[in-house]
Amino acid sequence: MTHSAMKVTEILSRSKETRFSFELLPPLKGSSIQVIYDAIDPLMEFNPLNINITYHQSEVEYRRLPGGLLEKRIIRKRPGTIGIAAAIMNKYQVMVVPHLICGGFTREETEDALIDLHFLGIRNILALRGDPQKGEKYFIPEEGGHAHTLTLVEQIINMNRGIYLDENLKNAIPTDFCVGVAGYPEKHFEAPNMEADLRHLKAKIDAGAEYIVTQMFFDNRKYFDFVERCRKAGINVPIIPGIKPINTLRDIELLPRTFHIDLPEELVREIQKCKTNQEAKEVGIEFCIAQSKELVKAGVPAIHYYTIGVSDNIRKIAAAVF
Ligand code: FAD
Repeated sequence: MTHSAMKVTEILSRSKETRFSFELLPPLKGSSIQVIYDAIDPLMEFNPLNINITYHQSEVEYRRLPGGLLEKRIIRKRPGTIGIAAAIMNKYQVMVVPHLICGGFTREETEDALIDLHFLGIRNILALRGDPQKGEKYFIPEEGGHAHTLTLVEQIINMNRGIYLDENLKNAIPTDFCVGVAGYPEKHFEAPNMEADLRHLKAKIDAGAEYIVTQMFFDNRKYFDFVERCRKAGINVPIIPGIKPINTLRDIELLPRTFHIDLPEELVREIQKCKTNQEAKEVGIEFCIAQSKELVKAGVPAIHYYTIGVSDNIRKIAAAVF
């Protein structure tokens, strides 16, 4: 079987060393897929375990019309996750992990997306809920869609058993998806406490998810503590740390606000000394190399890098670590 047709967990169970993995955003609507290839090309020499492709639900935008009225428009700025995943898999023969979210999908639409993925030969999925839609305070599921990732995982695992939504389907082909889910070393921002968050995480694993990718963190102790708490809670699947280098001066404000995480004081002080984005980027690279090296030393199964479409810094980090 080719590498691209395997499951993330199959490869991890055979790998003795920490593997390199990264995620990309689909390009903005109207851009070429070449943008994605240009981001991937410099990273292929590090033999990625897999490449993730994020999923972006539509956003609500208000446009002021002549006369002052506001027009509400729903637009999807970064479509194409499944198509991009298939294109990358075919071009690079690499394992791809498209993200599938609850937001914006009815259960029927989720089933159709899963059928597309199955027909395309894509076997790995990262199942997520999605954040509240831009402009909304709370996550609002689609009518007939999933309110939590748990039931999305259950739907995928049901299809792995040949159980589709239409009960009258006879002898439906079972799929064979390997499902990953998200975990939060610093707690998901909506969870009332860490124990409740871990309980919900365990439910996703008990439902059949096979591995966890963490939200970004900048203090490795938070990851190590999280793994320990997961193990104590009976969560025994691989937990892949997700990390991101600081890229601009503003990241020290934006990342905590967007991802509900803390930044270590030593990193904040170093970034505050920088005068340009380029200087901040260099500090970010150095910090991320040190962070990655400590994770490798601790024997983590893989390190997942959030590239946010920028790969020159990830290339420098990968060259120093892998
Ligand atoms: P869930 O597992 O549903 O958890 C969400 C919250 O609900 C948590 O607080 C949890 O404790 C709680 N909860 C869970 N089950 C229950 C229950 N039964 N009852 C009550 N509370 C419950 N977003 C995107 O839109 N697109 C992406 O591509 C994307 N990729 C991501 C990749 C990674 C690795 C990570 C870590 C996040 C990603 N996100 C993405 C963001 C993610 O969608 C958000 O963090 C979202 O707010 C939560 O998703 P989840 O799958 O963890 O949700």
